[in-house]
Amino acid sequence: MNTVNHDTMQTNIANIEQIKQLNSAIIYKIIEQYAPISRVKTAKISRLAPASVTKITRQLIENGLIAEVELQASTGGRRAISLAPNSDAVNVIAIKLGQKLLSIAHYNLSGIKLMSKQITIPKIETSAFLIDFLIAEIAKFMTQPPLINEKISAISITLSGLVDPKKGIVVYTPTYPLDDYSLVNKIENTFNIPTFIGNHTRCLALAENYFGATKNTQDSVLISVHHGVGSGVIIENKELLGKSCNIGEIGHIQTNPAGKRCHCGNIGCLETEVSDLVIYDKVKEAINAGSDCVLNVNTMNIDDIYLAAASGDKLCYTITQQAAHYLGKNIAILVNLLSPEKIVITGKILQAGEVLFSTIADCIKQQTLPNFHDQLIVTSTELKPDLTIAAFALIKQAIYEGDLLQRIKV
Ligand SMILES: [Zn+2]
Repeated sequence: MNTVNHDTMQTNIANIEQIKQLNSAIIYKIIEQYAPISRVKTAKISRLAPASVTKITRQLIENGLIAEVELQASTGGRRAISLAPNSDAVNVIAIKLGQKLLSIAHYNLSGIKLMSKQITIPKIETSAFLIDFLIAEIAKFMTQPPLINEKISAISITLSGLVDPKKGIVVYTPTYPLDDYSLVNKIENTFNIPTFIGNHTRCLALAENYFGATKNTQDSVLISVHHGVGSGVIIENKELLGKSCNIGEIGHIQTNPAGKRCHCGNIGCLETEVSDLVIYDKVKEAINAGSDCVLNVNTMNIDDIYLAAASGDKLCYTITQQAAHYLGKNIAILVNLLSPEKIVITGKILQAGEVLFSTIADCIKQQTLPNFHDQLIVTSTELKPDLTIAAFALIKQAIYEGDLLQRIKV
């Protein structure tokens, strides 16, 4: 056999595996959405041959991912068996490696959070120290009851910075010394459990698409204002990642050429003008310089500032409005480029309310194509505050679009 044929054969095998994976995911999604559902109806909706549906559902039942649930009387009086996901029996661990907090949670595949824990991250100096800390905390979490008696089917970790989810590598993070670190390899080798990593904001966009404000929306952009500004783009219900896996770095668009130097090395990036910390510092500086404000500079926090802006305190209003204006200008660029149906905003800044939304709406109206903004909806997140929901969404994505479905055996 020559090399070309060998390669062709390899490609064909890869394609067959991919098709198998794709069809299983289609069937699983349909069962999840319409349960309880018969095999006949599943075949009809999926447009797959009944024989394929039988084969795939048999495999899913064998692996414990779905179950035959009840006998249903059909119109002809014959009884058909229905299928439903066995999601409660599948346990996963979702983690957010934050700036100061490590959040670990145990979910079942239905999305029910069964247990969670938050640990303050000690001062990190080396990557080895951070990894040892992370592994020790995961091990501790997994060995406490009731989790010690459960099989864990997947682990996922979200963090801020540049991440390559396909290779399982942390490319760059401003918070930790983890550049080009193979985090997935390390966790999988330690626990022997399929592991996934992703940028937190982009996974949050995914969570919003699966469970939140963009559930029935094909094209959307999530904007998160936190200690920086990030975005996640969903096109045709899929996370837009590209080859670099890092589409959506809105925080580093130059916004104020006369501004401060950003941690990325450039001047006046959006996140040097807009973030919870920047807004807090601007208000603090103005009060210290003699500006009137209802807040006490020694006791105020960022929530107080946004609430004061909403209730019309002039200083907080002006500074929040300026931030909203910078945000709006950059969102307008995204609207012109991507023409999304929805923009979803998340972060404490939502507490500022009308000043935030009206300023962004003005920018979008003045700076985008009329056809793009006529139908555009700008709205708040619909996810409940949950630090690990983004990581949980990453596991759902691995089931719907990756090979995790094939790797789970309950
Ligand atoms: Zn920057």
